[in-house]
Amino acid sequence: RAVTETLEFQAETRQLMQLMIHSIYSNKDIFLRELISNASDALDKLRIESLVDSDLDVDRSDLHVELASDRDARTLTVRDNGIGMTRDEVVSLIGTIAKSGTAEMLRRLRETEQSAELIGQFGVGFYSAFMVADRVTLVTRKAGEATGTRWESTGEGTYTIDEVDDAGQGTTVTLELKPADDDDQLYDYSDPAVLRSIVKKYSDFIAWPIRLAGAEEPVNSMKALWARPRSEVTDEEYNEFYKHVAHDWTDPLEVVHMKAEGSFEYEALLFVPARAPFDLFTRDAPRGVQLYVKRVFIMADAEALIPRYLRFVKGVVDAADLSLNVSREILQQDRQIQAVRRRLVKKVLGTLRELSPEKYQTFWAEFGRAFKEGLIEDPANRDAILDLLSFSSTAEEEKLTTLREYADRRPEGQTEIYYLTGDSRATIENSPHLEAFRAKGYEVLILTDPIDEVWVDQVTEYDGIPLKSVAKGAVDLGSEPVEPGAFGTLLSWMTETLAESVKEVRLSSRLVTSPACVVGDADDLTPTLEKMYRAMGQ
Ligand code: ADP
Ligand code: MG
Repeated sequence: RAVTETLEFQAETRQLMQLMIHSIYSNKDIFLRELISNASDALDKLRIESLVDSDLDVDRSDLHVELASDRDARTLTVRDNGIGMTRDEVVSLIGTIAKSGTAEMLRRLRETEQSAELIGQFGVGFYSAFMVADRVTLVTRKAGEATGTRWESTGEGTYTIDEVDDAGQGTTVTLELKPADDDDQLYDYSDPAVLRSIVKKYSDFIAWPIRLAGAEEPVNSMKALWARPRSEVTDEEYNEFYKHVAHDWTDPLEVVHMKAEGSFEYEALLFVPARAPFDLFTRDAPRGVQLYVKRVFIMADAEALIPRYLRFVKGVVDAADLSLNVSREILQQDRQIQAVRRRLVKKVLGTLRELSPEKYQTFWAEFGRAFKEGLIEDPANRDAILDLLSFSSTAEEEKLTTLREYADRRPEGQTEIYYLTGDSRATIENSPHLEAFRAKGYEVLILTDPIDEVWVDQVTEYDGIPLKSVAKGAVDLGSEPVEPGAFGTLLSWMTETLAESVKEVRLSSRLVTSPACVVGDADDLTPTLEKMYRAMGQ
């Protein structure tokens, strides 16, 4: 029999667990929601796995979650007979936090007093058990394997790993509960009545039966939320469902609930989150919504259902007429799925358009940068996307403007929308390119996101009004053309002398106080884009 191994948590994990244990996160009940959510995911995975691999030696007859408590011993056990984990999976999934942005997140946690809120934002699922338990033991066996693994920890820097010969199918998490304490909002989680009410509150919609040990009847109704009429679903129910599908701890910003009838029937329950995940801009950021077929979970992150620029949208699409073993590849090519995706995009854009000003601001602050990618990725909806953008501008330092507002504010005679791209507001504001526009009272949009460099090349107008960089080509500010006149000789001398660096030296009406500035040709790369390409070694 293998000996017990003692392993150390990854530094970030240790810090997060300490924060969790000493957290003043007020709602400790949610640890149960997190464990049940994991159990439900594990049951989904087992079902899928056994469809894909018909030889897999598993018992599918009674997939469920069981809650067993011992009031004298003060323990609570959450058991599922789902997919389970191998030893290595336990070490990598439970011992480390692979989420990108963890280090950054922890730095922010240390700097602020609001650790409770930020912990919630991070949503560290499994570890939430340590809010209510002094010791957590997990015994698990991966579907198809003979031996199991026991993981145990008090949440203080190390955990132990053992081999287990007689582990049942799936995963059992046992908590040695801290003493109940009303002040600390710790209820008696070994009391079946307490468990029942928490399950009803947070996990009612879970599609697998959640039973109290010894009882036949599940505690949860198992009703798919998306199949119920909107008028019958409460905000709390939407919120809890969102937290399960999105693995988030924060209520969503907005709910999109729709039903399509006709030749291809489906229901969709989508959410716009209130906070961006830390990995929104990593290459492998999860994207897409969950796909169900007739209430049965098929896959997470179904990319075919939502474009990349809307990757922050979370939720579920339940299609009536798909095969249960549809693959990602088939989905990508399915004409009907493409039609569903177009409908979903329209619906999400429409929802964003109708957000209250406060909600829109939150949306923009959290997701604006990702959303702008849509200008390139989704030309068909370009107008709708343009209408949803916000920009800094020279008009007002603190306030953002939409293109519509900019267009409506234009003084008589201004026929174009002007912008300048750059690293920061400060560099842009100091640019000599702005001088003549300032003098004229023309507003200039200040574009500082790297993605701005890319879309401005492709989007040349808004609502028929040309979009123009103030740093490129000739700008027509309605002033008299400048004739070289007496400067002719000087200009040709300068052009010759600077031949290595510039194409031409000419007189300009764009400057007011600066003696000279460098401009690009209309079809040149902007300086920032040039820098970007150079940095990428191109
Ligand atoms: P998340 O659910 O957001 O991924 P968690 O901390 O809740 O984060 O869980 C971490 C990972 O551990 C899960 O993604 C899953 O792979 C694994 N895991 C946790 N609980 C179980 C379980 N009951 N059965 C199988 N795997 C589990
Ligand atoms: Mg989880």
